[in-house]
Amino acid sequence: MQVRDFSEVFWYGGREPEPRSLQLTWLLEFARKYLNVYQNVKPGCPTVELDIVNNSKFEAAAASRDGRYFIGINKGVLEIASNIFNRMLASNKLFIDIGDPTLESETVKTVSTITDSKELDKKEFVVPKDGLRKKFADELCRQLFNFIVFHEYGHICHGHSDFINALNQGEGVIYDMFESGQIDYLDWQTTEMDADSFATNAGVYFLRAVTKMPGLAAQEFNRFYGDLKSAIRIWIFAVYTFNRMFILRNNQKSLFQEHPPHSVRNMLIMNNVVVIAKLFYGEEFSKEIAKVCWDSAVEVEKAFGEISQDGINWWSIRFALQPDPNDLNKLIRHNWNKVRPLLEPFAMVPLPALVNEQ
Ligand SMILES: [Zn+2]
Repeated sequence: MQVRDFSEVFWYGGREPEPRSLQLTWLLEFARKYLNVYQNVKPGCPTVELDIVNNSKFEAAAASRDGRYFIGINKGVLEIASNIFNRMLASNKLFIDIGDPTLESETVKTVSTITDSKELDKKEFVVPKDGLRKKFADELCRQLFNFIVFHEYGHICHGHSDFINALNQGEGVIYDMFESGQIDYLDWQTTEMDADSFATNAGVYFLRAVTKMPGLAAQEFNRFYGDLKSAIRIWIFAVYTFNRMFILRNNQKSLFQEHPPHSVRNMLIMNNVVVIAKLFYGEEFSKEIAKVCWDSAVEVEKAFGEISQDGINWWSIRFALQPDPNDLNKLIRHNWNKVRPLLEPFAMVPLPALVNEQ
């Protein structure tokens, strides 16, 4: 069967109908612009059809069909992320260096992490009173949205979706929504690490560009991106928050799931940022970046603690520092040497090198 339409590919909701909110339109415009820029600077990266899926779950997906490539982001992603970031910035206790926090009220607490926007009580949607703080919440949403788009794009560019399609005789399993049943969990988690790594490289590429070419960020956000360290602080905050939202359903160190546990994902992403910083700016600067990453991670945990009725929960950070997840971290990284040759025939851009550390 020839699949010709976005709604057919993402059949579990189809294309989000018009008219759409201004924020959704703005986010899509930015993400499409960034995809275009990336396609121009990285030969081999294909054009994709990116749109919003009319589904309330906090999920996104990538698919290839008949040589065409699709990315579908559920509208639940935006609704949930927007609720969380606006709630944080509407609190007079959080981000006190942004705008005028004295205009804000006491924290409006919410139930623990939500992964379906149907669970959101619309009456509870709080918005920051200070204009700059509202914009900052929007910018965090945009960074989170872009990370997810480029994670899905990594599944496409690094050949994951074509590889899975080939195993399924072209039946077209959708990445990130359904398990293939064709490869084992460790291999699947390894491709997830690879997609995160692709999105991290693209993320840092744009952060470096934004600090040099302020036109790349919306004008009012220039002040947040004065230097690479403050840019990385914002980016890590958004990305760590994204993974942190899975704490309820993905809180085991088990290998029997498609995605690595969120703490392991965050560890791998932060390590990757530090490695990239070292490559471009040397050892000393990379140590400063490592501190920025950890400070930002702690800032997320404190922010979640503040807006959650359950209070602060250091479980994620402790889990990430225990020996076991580090073993899993190592296991996944080393498994790249097994998975890379399988993906090689399908990859459209050069894949990361084999791992040769002990
Ligand atoms: Zn994925």
